[in-house]
This record gives sequence, structure tokens and C-alpha cells, in this order.
Amino acid sequence: MQTCTVLIVAGGRGARFGGSLPKQYALFEGESVLRRSVMAFRGAPGIDHLQVVIGADDEARYRTAVGDLDLPPPVRGGASRQHSVLNGLEALAGSPPDLVAVHDAARPFVRPADIAACLAALADPEVDGAVLGVPLADTLKRADDGGVISGTVPRPLLEAHRAAATLAASEGTALTDDAAVAERAGLRVVMVRGHEDNRKITTADDLPPTTAMETRTAFGFDVHGFGPGDSVTLGGIVIAHARGLVGHSDADVALHALTDAVLGTIGAGDIGMHFPPSDPQWRGVSSDRFLRHAVDLLQAAGGRIVHLDLTLICEAPRIGPHRQAMVDAIARITGVEPGRVSVKATTTEGLGFTGRREGIAAQAVATIEMPRAPT
Ligand code: MG
Repeated sequence: MQTCTVLIVAGGRGARFGGSLPKQYALFEGESVLRRSVMAFRGAPGIDHLQVVIGADDEARYRTAVGDLDLPPPVRGGASRQHSVLNGLEALAGSPPDLVAVHDAARPFVRPADIAACLAALADPEVDGAVLGVPLADTLKRADDGGVISGTVPRPLLEAHRAAATLAASEGTALTDDAAVAERAGLRVVMVRGHEDNRKITTADDLPPTTAMETRTAFGFDVHGFGPGDSVTLGGIVIAHARGLVGHSDADVALHALTDAVLGTIGAGDIGMHFPPSDPQWRGVSSDRFLRHAVDLLQAAGGRIVHLDLTLICEAPRIGPHRQAMVDAIARITGVEPGRVSVKATTTEGLGFTGRREGIAAQAVATIEMPRAPT
């Protein structure tokens, strides 16, 4: 099997995009354009490795955009796109793949079928490279800058780029696309018809307007009384205790308070409406199902959790030793990072029903964001 590395060129400053943020780092539906381009090639058929080329000042932006993806360190680009591609090809020259694809990070909508078609065109031994183009009219075709080009490279394309760099240095001629560089070096480049979706993000108008979001906060409260048993379920974990908690489900008072808080953010009633205690199917079930259901409803409304804050009120058991396990369990159930979950505990100094050790109370505050409702 031939190996193929894609160079994703993200070194541009985006002068036409406006503002100080290069367009490849702008968000499209909550995800950076660069990350979308990376994801388009991740797992695409025929692509084995991915190498991003970034601008000299964009290290922090790059980390924010793709930080959690397992990628090789980015290569520093140059002053022009051509120079950035050259730097990327030079970085691959040590252990070159059989094929290299060059893709502009500002084209996040490229389809797997187009990538595959480009690679397939290279099966013809007469062909050195292929570039995606979109027909502008019946007879006029154009391969605009930055489409995918791939070839029996990297050596011929690298040599073509080295030659073009020399030319640029002596004549000040910068070639803006790889097809021009390859053709100038005598390589045979064919055009593959690409899907019109593979458009380039050039101005802010190419991105949809950012959806206006609003923040909502809601509160949840629950109490369960102690009864016979040797453990309690609190915050999704089981804690050994001299007594159990009485309830229809597993009586996880913490998850019940959190469930009501999340339901409150979307005005979706309370836990008893969704999971009536009179319904035998909820007898003894794990309360993570209730909380997960509330989060599903929130997400269906376009929302996401920003923060969850829980306070447990009891004399015993002691919460401190189990705090982190609860944070982790709540984070897992709700699908957020543990840093967005807070678990606190207090006693009532021996006062009231919790002070008399008759039961445990829990309070929760959920903060979410969701598309702004029409006013
Ligand atoms: Mg309850």
C-alpha cells in the first residue's frame, strides 16, 4: 500500500478576512476552521499521516484549535503560502511518504470522496499530480489556489517547490498554488472535478453569523431520609454507611438535585414529571439515567452545560474523602470536563432534620448556555 501524508497549510494571515484572527482559527459552528480541515482528513481513505504548517506567531492559537488531537508538532510556515508548503515538504523529506497531499486549512468542507478521487487519479502512471477544481461554466474550468494537490511526490513536488523558491528569490515571483508550481517544473497535473462544497473561507461573510447565545441558571433541591441499609448512593458513587437512603430509585439525592437544576434551565418541569415515583419501571434504577435524560433534553434544545455546582447537606457520611470521585462520576454522566463540576458539603451544626441525622439534603445550581430565545 502506498502511504500518503497530507500537509494542511495554515500559515496565512488572512488579510482579506478582517480582524486580527486568521480565518483558519475563526469558529464555524463552534469549531475552528483549521480543526474542521484536520478532521476532514482524519480517517479519510488513503490518508495515513497529517502534518499542519502554521504561522510563526500562531503556536497558541494552534494549540487551542487542535490541542486535544494527537498530531505531530506543527511545522513553521514562511512569509508566503509557497514558502509554507516548501517548509512542510522539507519537514517530510527525512522519511518521505509515497504521496503527499497539500490542503489549504481555509477549506474545511472538503469531502472524503474528493480526496479519494484525487488520489485515484494518480493510479495513471502518466500523471504526476492531481488537483481539485470546480467548473465555473461549461467550458471554463479553474483550479483555484489551495485545492488538494497530490502527486508521485514528495520528491518531485519538493524539487518543484525548491526551484520555485529560487525563482521567487531572484525574480520576486510568488506562485500562489501548487498546481502552478508543479506545472512550471514540468510535472503532469490533471484536474479532478471536486464538489462545490470545497469552498475557501476568504472573508468573514463565508462563515455563518455566530449564533447569539444566552446563559441560564437554574436551581435544584432534594431530600431523602435515612432507612435500613449499609450504604448510600451519592453523586453517582456508592459510599459505605451505617444506614441507607429511602427512595423509589437508588435515592441519589445529589443526582436528583442536579437533574432538577438541569431541567430548570430549559423549563422542562421536574424529575417527578419525567420519572414518576408511581411508575414501577424506575424502582431501584441508577439515578444517572435521570441526570443523563435531563442533559439529553438540554442538548436537544441546543444547549450545553457550562458549570454544575452541588452542595450536600448532612452530618454523615463525610463527603470530603469522596469528593473527587463524585466530581468524576458527575462529569462522566453529564459528558463535561471535571473542571466544570463542583461538589461541596456542609453540616447544619446539629440543627434541623439533617442535624438530627434523619436524612440528607442536596442543592444544585446548573449554569448552561443555549441559543438565545426570541424575545
Ligand atoms: Mg429524590
